[in-house]
Amino acid sequence: MNHGSPDLYIAPELKRRLCGVRRVFVLTGAGVSVESGIPAFRGTGGIWGEWNPEDYATPEAFERDPVRVWQWYLGRIENIRRAEPNPAHRALAELERRLGPGAMLTATQNVDGLHRRAGSGAVAEIHGEIFKCRPVGPGFMGERPIDEIDIDMDGLPPRDAEGSVLRPAVVWFGEYLPPGPIKTIEEFLSIPPDLVVIAGTTAGFPYVQDWATRPKREGAILIEVNPDMTLVTPHADAAFQCPAGEALPRIFSHIEV
Ligand code: NAD
Repeated sequence: MNHGSPDLYIAPELKRRLCGVRRVFVLTGAGVSVESGIPAFRGTGGIWGEWNPEDYATPEAFERDPVRVWQWYLGRIENIRRAEPNPAHRALAELERRLGPGAMLTATQNVDGLHRRAGSGAVAEIHGEIFKCRPVGPGFMGERPIDEIDIDMDGLPPRDAEGSVLRPAVVWFGEYLPPGPIKTIEEFLSIPPDLVVIAGTTAGFPYVQDWATRPKREGAILIEVNPDMTLVTPHADAAFQCPAGEALPRIFSHIEV
């Protein structure tokens, strides 16, 4: 296995296999947005080092104190609004454009919208979108952009016209994933991809591990990009232990389409 190197050495055999890649599945996590100035959740400088997820990222936390949760989310929203897509986001958007319609899907755990802002069109946002909100309660009905509602810092939590309390349209711990993006992923994987790239995620959730490793069993190349090792690393054909903004443009330059 190639665990990468500071100069991002790509073995000749991997270069040869990358040449013929035509269908690509990508899984991203918080690490892909770190180079845009958005902190990851785990690890040094991570959000969960400073804030307790049980106070901000569970339905029970919102029930206990919706004002505190909204204030925290509005802070994150401000930070994300100022952020710009980085070379990792742009490399993914560029590869999707080169491969052509239907040949690539980026499944992301990120809620920051940076893949779309970089130009990716086929994006499955499995943990929701931070720039949207929806009425509390089960299901994903009634989502709307937060810019459509008047968020008054003195009148939190915001409510819709019917008086229902609105919450951020993101997936919290213990909640179901939205069915739309899951269906998109499963449909895409029903035609096996040639290459799976998993970048910037600790791959802590079993569904992420499954999506990364299942196509490999059907012959796909599995590449990981992460400065640290993860549960997926032992399965990878190549693991590049460097920032996504450096690794992805270099790796994708070997795909000849
Ligand atoms: P994360 O913060 O858990 O992981 C970020 C990953 O990005 C780390 O592995 C880090 O090494 C890597 N990274 C940092 N900088 C990078 C860079 N420049 N380029 C590439 N990689 C870089 O984020 P996540 O994996 O997206 O997690 C998503 C959600 O899952 C979060 O809510 C998190 O709290 C949660 N989670 C849950 C569990 C669990 O067991 N339930 C485990 C891990 C994470």
